Amino acid sequence: PPDTVPQAPEDPLFGLARAYKADPSPNKVDLGIGAYRDNNAKPWVLPVVKKADDILRNNPELNHEYAPIAGIESFTSKAAELMLGADSPALADRRVTSVQTISGTGAVHLGALFLAKFYKGNRTVYVSNPTWANHHQIFNNVGITVAQYPYFSKETRGLDFEGMTAAISAAPERSIILLHPCAHNPTGVDPTPDQWKQLAVIIREKKHFPFFDCAYQGFASGDLARDASAVRYFVEQGFELVVAQSFAKNFGLYGERAGCFHFVGAPAADAAETVTRVASQLAILQRSEISNPPLYGARIASTVLNDPQLFAEWEENLRTMSGRIIDMRKALRSKLEELETPGTWNHITDQIGMFSFTGLTEPQVMKLREEYHIYMTKNGRISMAGLNTHNIDHVAQAIRKVVGE
Ligand code: PMP
Repeated sequence: PPDTVPQAPEDPLFGLARAYKADPSPNKVDLGIGAYRDNNAKPWVLPVVKKADDILRNNPELNHEYAPIAGIESFTSKAAELMLGADSPALADRRVTSVQTISGTGAVHLGALFLAKFYKGNRTVYVSNPTWANHHQIFNNVGITVAQYPYFSKETRGLDFEGMTAAISAAPERSIILLHPCAHNPTGVDPTPDQWKQLAVIIREKKHFPFFDCAYQGFASGDLARDASAVRYFVEQGFELVVAQSFAKNFGLYGERAGCFHFVGAPAADAAETVTRVASQLAILQRSEISNPPLYGARIASTVLNDPQLFAEWEENLRTMSGRIIDMRKALRSKLEELETPGTWNHITDQIGMFSFTGLTEPQVMKLREEYHIYMTKNGRISMAGLNTHNIDHVAQAIRKVVGE
């Protein structure tokens, strides 16, 4: 009966977007949205995506038949190479199986569902505190317990590496450890290469299972290989692991839902058979949930990933996006410092990727919203892509005012 279904709260991010839309002020600024915007605050269709779209439109061979259950092979194979490196030992050994998913969310879900059914270790996933809020719901939905490891230091506004490693060391053996390989959401704070090495040592000692969620490859540094280096390092170290891969941000294909889930087996004589068995189960899970994945986004990505010239153009487009974001970080920091805003602001340029954890308190965030029409999430996270040369002075001055009071 309907009265047994309680009202659920609105998703905070989509609630924020609604509040922004309803604000009639011409000076309003949206720093909530997790999507790239150009310098005029408009969504940006990547020029290389437009080209791929033209190529697809002019291809008379294409139709609307179903994709295979595991997705378009020319897409998933290149997606695996992009994440793991074309020269990956795991690919050479045929120790990888890949499934096209409903973007990154679907990949995290498929991985969670697979582990809920088949993982024989401690069925608790440790996620960073804070993490992308959806991680909690996705794992809870499939019956995996969610625990947290410390991640963000409020004092330094950088990584709480001691807290993180202590919690991962103290977790029961064979727990699942969820890691963001680059451009951590929401903090913009990543471990250094040396810290990744130390994490790998602890995770191996405790026989934990690494689950990488990679939503921003190429978006953090502008360099695809560098942004995947944590995943590649763990693969080189011989871990069995999984990766959720999203093409929403790096191709600007948000609504097209292009993504991929990869299972990488550990090097072993029977590794290829293990991976075959895993692939057979993933196919059944996929079939029961979505039957087969959507075509369009994967076709666009596949067209670019399989053509060296288009690939090079894509890298150029990625540098345009990451470069503009880095410029905005520099500009915001220097303006806040010029205005002698109380506190330190080096974290704005130290953090990377789409987001910055400003350290603004909830009352300050609410004041920015109500008095200055600047919208961000209550935890003080701002999307750097919402800043541009037209609004940055207004934003810096408003932050100066609310912090100085
Ligand atoms: N993981 C993380 C950490 C994210 O930030 C996002 C996007 N907000 C996703 C996964 C999934 O995004 P999508 O489903 O749009 O690919």
